[in-house]
Amino acid sequence: MLGGVMKRQITRRDFLNGTQVAIGASLISPWAEVFGAAAPDFTLPGAYYPPARTGLRGSHDGAWETMHALVSGKSWPRAEPDENYDLVVVGGGISGLSAAWFYRKDHPDARVLVLDNHDDFGGHAKRNEFSINGRTRIGYGGTESIDTPSAYSQVAKDLLVEIGIDVQKFYDAYDQSLYSSLGLAKGIVFDEQGFGRQKLVTGYGKKSWKDFAAEAPLSRKARADFIRVQTDERDYLPGLSFEEKYEILRRTSYYDFLKDYAKVDQQVLEIYRRWGMSFWCVGIDEVPTTSIQSYDGGMPGVDHTLVRTGYRGDEPYIFHFPDGNASVARLLVRKLLPQAVPGNTMEDVVTSKIDYSQLDRKGSDTRIRLNSTVVNVTHTGDESAVDIQFINGGNAYSVRASRCILACYNSAIPYLCPELPQKQKDGLAYNVKIPLTYTKVMVPNWRPFAELGMDFAYYTNAFYKQVELDYPVSIGDYQFSKSPDEPMVLHMCHVHHSPDIQGPEQWREGRRRLLGTPFSVFEDHVRDQLDQALSGAGFDADRDIHAITVNRWAHGYAYSPGLIWEPDYATNDEKPWVIGRQPYGRITIANSDSAARADTNAAITQGYRAVAELMNI
Ligand SMILES: Cc1cc2nc3c(=O)[nH]c(=O)nc-3n(C[C@H](O)[C@H](O)[C@H](O)COP(=O)(O)OP(=O)(O)OC[C@H]3O[C@@H](n4cnc5c(N)ncnc54)[C@H](O)[C@@H]3O)c2cc1C
Repeated sequence: MLGGVMKRQITRRDFLNGTQVAIGASLISPWAEVFGAAAPDFTLPGAYYPPARTGLRGSHDGAWETMHALVSGKSWPRAEPDENYDLVVVGGGISGLSAAWFYRKDHPDARVLVLDNHDDFGGHAKRNEFSINGRTRIGYGGTESIDTPSAYSQVAKDLLVEIGIDVQKFYDAYDQSLYSSLGLAKGIVFDEQGFGRQKLVTGYGKKSWKDFAAEAPLSRKARADFIRVQTDERDYLPGLSFEEKYEILRRTSYYDFLKDYAKVDQQVLEIYRRWGMSFWCVGIDEVPTTSIQSYDGGMPGVDHTLVRTGYRGDEPYIFHFPDGNASVARLLVRKLLPQAVPGNTMEDVVTSKIDYSQLDRKGSDTRIRLNSTVVNVTHTGDESAVDIQFINGGNAYSVRASRCILACYNSAIPYLCPELPQKQKDGLAYNVKIPLTYTKVMVPNWRPFAELGMDFAYYTNAFYKQVELDYPVSIGDYQFSKSPDEPMVLHMCHVHHSPDIQGPEQWREGRRRLLGTPFSVFEDHVRDQLDQALSGAGFDADRDIHAITVNRWAHGYAYSPGLIWEPDYATNDEKPWVIGRQPYGRITIANSDSAARADTNAAITQGYRAVAELMNI
């Protein structure tokens, strides 16, 4: 078992060493040490099973250094291609896997290779497994839910059905009333700097606002303002039409709305400053009031100013497999390589044990090659094919393909494909991926949460923005922990926040910090923050933390335009991501960045578009 299990000294040594690999230093991945430097055969051994690894995951060590070295100017000697494919897909996330499947459907005899730099497929759709008391508990390492499937494109809806997903089944699988039936609600951990003392107050949205405010460490003025914005049916922009208000509020951050229109006390602003961090990954000073209005059941102060009906939609947030959308990726792999993912249904995929040795077998028409970072994609001199160079186990390899789909990150593409026109490179560079971390904490029971009457704690100003109980979903043989006496995978989300810098600058800074943060720092914050929220109900970090997995996504969400500083574009064709995703010779571009949307719908739909464009070549 790797470092996440609570053998603290061992954990520290393993992961400190791992994160301190400097750019340009050894690029030999841990896998090379296992398999030997020259790996002519890429078949993975039978015991290979990355979902069970704990410690520092997501963009794990060994996955990112090669690409960062390329960005820093490193190059590798070109090798002659030693394999030929009809299609090579760069990136084994949901977009790349979907593209491979769409292509295979039209070309059943095609030879297709998917290359990905991680030790597991799925991109952000990653599965975390834990073993506790002889049981396996499953968590989601990245993308968590099929959000609002009714709004998916027809192509994406059809793909979900084709891989076996019936979203209606989640209405039975997901217990929407479990936590409320136990009287659980949100709590806020107020911080000392902003509120004078650290204090957990539970019952947000359940108690009366007056009672909640009475317990909160607020000044008299802040308390009165908090109750006012929660309860008053007041229009803070009187005398204006809906259209006039909308135009103002789409250009007014929620921070400014609360400050300048609702005129609340600074402490009320401090409560909400980071409220949407796990979604927008910036403070509320960058989120338009019109966008945040419906967030989290509705934000205080807006609804009686901008009266809107029916805009929240009525589709619940329940379309969740225990491993999140990793099951979508697993079902796609089952379509591509049935022998790798035993079973036939959306229920059995949850507990199905993947046979990784089947992913990249010699002689197979479809192959998924892990631990392989692509460093160059170039048309051959006569432009009849594309050569794709990749690094695996520290060695450079090359394959030749009739066509190539780049389903990786937009920002990586200009480095992989130096021959692209500058205008297209600029378009691709616009999307700065947003760094964030999903940390999973395996605890033997959730009695402290039940005792406190809390299923979610929001921290006003701490490293982790929140801790929450897992989504209560049972599918097939996998049963959710229904009783507080049973083990629970807690979810904690960290997003770096630099209030003085905005958007892309903040995300670049966050990425630098994330890659330089050792596991021990994540671990210390987990311990401190769980103690802060739960020690009053008997939680003891030394005793109660069984394992930790830190899913570190240095390149996380695709940037979805819509923050306060985003310009308006006169036409679709002017949008940088539309300019960036144009086909180039035998190369087309998929991935969620190419739609500028951080969602699975976009990943699938863009995979389809990229394949459709290839058909014209
Ligand atoms: C923490 C988190 C939570 C999310 N939650 C949700 C959610 O609940 N619902 C939702 O719909 N969406 C969610 N998303 C958005 C998610 O990104 C998309 O839904 C989708 O999974 C993106 O798929 P993709 O294939 O476009 O990109 P990715 O999943 O990023 O896959 C691209 C792959 O290409 C690889 N790659 C990059 N460069 C190279 C290279 N040079 N060589 C080889 N491989 C390379 C990457 O490492 C990656 O594995 C979440 C994202 C994150 C990070």
